[in-house]
Amino acid sequence: MSPQTKEAPPYAEDTVASDEDSGRIIRITGPVVVAEHMTGSRMYDIVRVGNESLMGEIIKLLEDTATIQVYEETSGLHVGEPVTSTGAPLTVELGPGLLTSVYDGIQRPLSFLAERSGDFIGRGMSIDPLSEDTTWDWTPVAAVGDEVYAGKVLGTVPEGPLVHRIMVPPVHGAAGTIKSLAPAGSYHIHDVIATLSDGAELTMTQRWPVREGRPYERKLDPSRPFVTGMRVLDTFFPIALGGNAIIPGGFGTGKTVTQQSLAKWADVDIIVYVGCGERGNEMTEVLSEFPELEDPRSGAPLMERTVLVANTSNMPVAAREASIYVGITLAEYYRDMGYSVAMMADSTSRWGEALREVSGRLEEMPGEEGYPAYLATRLAAFYERCGLVVPLGSVADESHNAEARGQGSVTMVGAVSPAGGDLSEPMTQNSLRVTGAFWALDTDLAHQRHFPAISWTKSYTLFLGQVSRWFSDNVANDWATIRERAMAVLQKEIELQEIVQLVGPDALPEAEKGTMEVARMIREDFLQQFAFDAVDAYCPIEKQYAILDTIIQFGDEIEAAIGRGVLLSTILNLPLRGQIAALKTTPHEEALKRIKELVPEIHNQITHLEVG
Ligand code: ADP
Ligand code: MG
Repeated sequence: MSPQTKEAPPYAEDTVASDEDSGRIIRITGPVVVAEHMTGSRMYDIVRVGNESLMGEIIKLLEDTATIQVYEETSGLHVGEPVTSTGAPLTVELGPGLLTSVYDGIQRPLSFLAERSGDFIGRGMSIDPLSEDTTWDWTPVAAVGDEVYAGKVLGTVPEGPLVHRIMVPPVHGAAGTIKSLAPAGSYHIHDVIATLSDGAELTMTQRWPVREGRPYERKLDPSRPFVTGMRVLDTFFPIALGGNAIIPGGFGTGKTVTQQSLAKWADVDIIVYVGCGERGNEMTEVLSEFPELEDPRSGAPLMERTVLVANTSNMPVAAREASIYVGITLAEYYRDMGYSVAMMADSTSRWGEALREVSGRLEEMPGEEGYPAYLATRLAAFYERCGLVVPLGSVADESHNAEARGQGSVTMVGAVSPAGGDLSEPMTQNSLRVTGAFWALDTDLAHQRHFPAISWTKSYTLFLGQVSRWFSDNVANDWATIRERAMAVLQKEIELQEIVQLVGPDALPEAEKGTMEVARMIREDFLQQFAFDAVDAYCPIEKQYAILDTIIQFGDEIEAAIGRGVLLSTILNLPLRGQIAALKTTPHEEALKRIKELVPEIHNQITHLEVG
């Protein structure tokens, strides 16, 4: 058994405290409730608060006085009402049926909630996250007599476009020889599908406490890029599959559009999208739009490989904080099956605000701008849960199991929405310290309608060393050179712009006017990408390289011609610029074919220009 396996988390629902075990509410401040006589409770225990049994979590414990963050609206709650501990931490239920689901921040299915209680969520309601009624087509993979342990695949069921692997849960005690195994057939999620020699009865589901990372065999150094189809990201600031990035940006700069483009186009198996409503109706939009989105590759609904966790802005702050952990735990679960998962969180600032509000109510010593001093550690521990891993139990699979999983990954992209777009605020600064890439949205670019408004001067990636080998092996030998040259041209443009401001554009020498023109092409014909254009929404890596290479070669021809005394205006009178600009909206195959002809045309036309 792996050293990382742990004590079985008890099931919150299974433990019901008797009345004399109850504590009593002594104080209520917004989402935070203090209760005394909470004998036997532990930190992070889930509790039921008040006559309506609101769900809450113990976040501070002093002897038998517990401070509780309540995940539901606390109005109407009174001092003296009972509080009972479930004796278990906040867990999620994991199993077939997660994909296509829409949950609130504590994994309650939103569609059911809406049906039962109108638009808002009924208080104190607990509803099973996974359907008990659905049957799943089970195919055993293991056999009676097999020695199994945490992470081993017992069998599979088809779930949407992929195979859901039913694994031995990574909890203490779940190991032994298989005594019985359900034959192929249709089963409900809670039917026993395997019994082990130690008496353990396993179903298709398992539970996991959300605040703890799920164990894996080992982490690997990522080397493949997380391909997004967005040129500025893939070519300029790529991250690795299993890496992480933040997208900070002020209001209206494109965080949500970017996150949704990633959800649609990123080259991963599964999407976990955590929305924390920024504006009043924004989450409502996501909830109505997401189910309509089409997976551009398969044509099937995108929801078939998506789990949506949604906090509308009227949900209490504590639930937003929980939603981030619910999301990453769902992502890790599919990672453990050997899938690549991308999690988008829009926006993590709402999570930071929840921490700040609760910390304030706790009267903790505030850190920067009122955020708790532990903000940095919380963020670090959270982003640490990303990675490329060998899943638990999959090493042995590789040698004698047809269900070999190989590797699984969780890639995380968190939007950050600093007030006024001020990137020096604590949430942005603390996040950038613990993530590998900074995709900074720029208010000026957004105003100029340069989309995606990702700044090429403020953004950076630390993954270049890890992924550039992949690009040179799979895209082009000189991928890194072309990228660097393009970035150097943009850098040069900034210097030249300063000169132009002082002396006007006409004072620039021809060669430098040429550089300015190439920079403009890199910005407009390469970096700008319209998320709503049928062709341009997604740009394959090969096409990204080919377009940029064409612009760079065009620049080299301009430089050579100007060196011979040709005027820039003469070159720009050729139809070439427009032809290059049209490439991004030309269907991919056609564009690649066109580029093969265009490059020699550029050379021929420019070298034959008359001097003067
Ligand atoms: P935020 O979430 O940062 O507040 P949004 O993602 O809602 O901002 O973007 C605001 C607007 O900017 C969008 O409605 C859209 O008009 C425009 N926009 C952002 N990114 C793009 C893009 N890649 N392509 C086209 N338009 C974009
Ligand atoms: Mg937004």
